[in-house]
Amino acid sequence: MMRLPWFEYRAPRSLAEAARVLAGEGPGAKLIAGGTDLLPNMKRRHEVPATLVALRRVDELKRTANGAGLRLGAGLTLTEVTQVAAVKEQYRALWQAAMQVATPHLRNMGTLGGNLCLDTRCTYYNQNYEWRKAIDFCMKIDGDICWVATASKRCLAVSSTDTAPALISLGARVRLVSASGEREAALADLYRNDGIDYLTRRPDEILAEVLLPKNEGWKSTYWKLRRRGSFDFPLLGVAAAVKTATDGTVEDARLVLGAVSSHPLAIKAGELLVGRKLTDEAIARAGNLAESRAKPMDNTDMDLRWRKHVVADFVGYALRELRGNDMSAERLRTARQSL
Ligand SMILES: Cc1cc2nc3c(=O)[nH]c(=O)nc-3n(C[C@H](O)[C@H](O)[C@H](O)COP(=O)(O)OP(=O)(O)OC[C@H]3O[C@@H](n4cnc5c(N)ncnc54)[C@H](O)[C@@H]3O)c2cc1C
Ligand code: SF4
Repeated sequence: MMRLPWFEYRAPRSLAEAARVLAGEGPGAKLIAGGTDLLPNMKRRHEVPATLVALRRVDELKRTANGAGLRLGAGLTLTEVTQVAAVKEQYRALWQAAMQVATPHLRNMGTLGGNLCLDTRCTYYNQNYEWRKAIDFCMKIDGDICWVATASKRCLAVSSTDTAPALISLGARVRLVSASGEREAALADLYRNDGIDYLTRRPDEILAEVLLPKNEGWKSTYWKLRRRGSFDFPLLGVAAAVKTATDGTVEDARLVLGAVSSHPLAIKAGELLVGRKLTDEAIARAGNLAESRAKPMDNTDMDLRWRKHVVADFVGYALRELRGNDMSAERLRTARQSL
């Protein structure tokens, strides 16, 4: 049985107190929200924080507000996010992404903030301490080499959050709070293409809120590839959002891939789609561009060449759905649920 290491536990009741405690405890402290990612990682000794600063009692992180746009507290569980009517009706990609994270139990515990700050994943890393020791560890922790690409100077662990690509396609921003103040940033800028240093968030900052712009005519969707219809992390995520004129001409478009890189990968599909209708030819060109940009590595489930190859198919499913095609058969085949 894997046991947790010893740690101090702090349970602040306000965001200001949480920020103060986090700053005061220094580099040995770590935030915990639902704990569905952090606690397994601590059991495997990926991280051994001296102090956990719990966010569960901070009510300010559970608020939602719908006015000039939609504001979602980072402490909302993923189940709560899917229950916000505006998410389901106007920010469909987020609803679909949150609905496909793990299982109902994990969505009841796991939070939006935890999902956005999720550790990157790799077959050689998500193993217990003894397993990793047997291969002499790797550079993400305790070692010097990358077993996925031995010449690589950079860790290639995979960004495996479902909600980040969806939220980036929706133009989301985030509010980060620390004891020394607060700042807002585009969610896309929260990520670095580096499997170790994957967030630009400072260790003393708390992700407090996700801010979505008012939906002015955008339609969006999220498609996920995984082995099983539940439980599994994405092997590919495709988030697409388009804004079209009444005659179907694309005025703006965003396409973001998950799980094919150490960060959510934005594809510059706008040049191929804007000013055109979503014809089969335009969709195929966007799919081919996305497939050429995706760089899946051999560090997660399924064959990497096949995972790269199906990027164009999944982009096609997403854009045809946004065009108005009935994609329920493909949805049932890939997600094994209606979304
Ligand atoms: C079996 C299994 C399957 C899973 N499948 C999926 C899946 O399909 N898709 C997916 O995306 N995830 C999956 N997960 C991962 C996880 O359950 C979710 O990502 C969940 O949303 C994480 O949220 P949490 O609140 O539990 O995060 P925690 O475990 O509490 O924290 C995760 C990380 O985020 C940091 N953090 C948490 N909240 C904040 C905040 N407000 N500000 C700054 N940092 C913060 C923590 O310090 C930690 O580093 C799976 C997990 C398991 C165990
Ligand atoms: S990509 Fe390489 S360095 Fe990163 S976790 Fe995997 S084996 Fe380790």
